[in-house]
Amino acid sequence: MILGIIEHDRGQLNNQSLEMLTLARQVAADEGVGITAVLIGNNSAHLADNLAAYGVSQAIVASHDGLDEYAPAAWAAAVAQIAQANTPKAIMATGTDRGNELMAHVAAQLNLAMAANVTQVTVGDSYDITRVRWGGSLFEEAKLHGNIKLLTVAPLVQEVSEAPSGGVTVETFSPELDDKHFRVRVTSREAPEADKISLAEARLVVGGGRGVGSAEGFAVLDELAELLNGAVGGSRVATNLGWRPHHDQVGQTGTRIAPDLYIACGISGAIQHWVGCKGSKKILAINTDPEAPMMTKADYAVIGNLHEVLPALIAELKK
Ligand SMILES: Cc1cc2nc3c(=O)[nH]c(=O)nc-3n(C[C@H](O)[C@H](O)[C@H](O)COP(=O)(O)OP(=O)(O)OC[C@H]3O[C@@H](n4cnc5c(N)ncnc54)[C@H](O)[C@@H]3O)c2cc1C
Repeated sequence: MILGIIEHDRGQLNNQSLEMLTLARQVAADEGVGITAVLIGNNSAHLADNLAAYGVSQAIVASHDGLDEYAPAAWAAAVAQIAQANTPKAIMATGTDRGNELMAHVAAQLNLAMAANVTQVTVGDSYDITRVRWGGSLFEEAKLHGNIKLLTVAPLVQEVSEAPSGGVTVETFSPELDDKHFRVRVTSREAPEADKISLAEARLVVGGGRGVGSAEGFAVLDELAELLNGAVGGSRVATNLGWRPHHDQVGQTGTRIAPDLYIACGISGAIQHWVGCKGSKKILAINTDPEAPMMTKADYAVIGNLHEVLPALIAELKK
């Protein structure tokens, strides 16, 4: 069996779990075994039915009141105990912040190696893997050892594709958990602004960096984004200077975006920013410096002052 951990937030599926299942199907086929989905918390049990379309034939629901909210050590203890009871060939999860954190805990609890952000797997006694390193700036080839292989799947690499299994049988597992597993847990939440399009899901993102010059300077970016039904993001400089809130940051330590079009304004294109935006289908860079890395990597570039280019663009769009 291959255990595939289905990431969710209070019962809402993270679609990157479906990307994980694409690679899990290949690993399961090469190992000659099936995929068993792990659903952590009673509030995720309803997701089992949806998974039949993605090659899952069995699901285990880790049932415990404390698991409905994310708590990394507790979620990991549930996964580790399910693994001990079933001895899977591999455990796979999403290469998201949550998936990587969870699997690091699982690795520590099972005393096994874990590989994060994997893009390719060739199975064997050890697995030959390719994984993304340094925030996406290089691929590393490595061997993954252990009687259970633990890995997370790099986001936005695998295509989500359907592979009907014919149905999912569901069983319940009750993990043994105590207070020490809940030292870190979600205790409260702040809701995002109601009508705001999320950066991670926006089809169009207008990004601003130091070149925007001030918090007020972002007004023209907000206007363009609103006109095109998109979202506004910022470089770390823009968030560090307080021009935008941290949740607007694009990059290695911010949000990874994959819009149809990213309009990068006054952003130099440092590697830490690039890894967050390189999943964009097309990039338009606006910058006074034609040699800025963002300009040389973009599909389209306008050399000029963003405070002249953007108003001209907005005026044309309004026409
Ligand atoms: C561990 C670590 C993590 C990091 N994580 C992130 C991250 O998640 N996201 C991130 O963005 N950065 C991150 N950084 C910071 C990153 O290295 C860069 O410092 C940052 O991305 C630069 O931001 P910038 O492009 O806005 O500023 P700058 O590099 O200063 O570039 C400003 C650009 O604006 C242009 N410009 C100036 N005026 C105008 C104008 N009027 N019109 C048009 N163009 C103009 C300039 O030519 C220049 O190219 C991280 C760094 C470290 C060390």
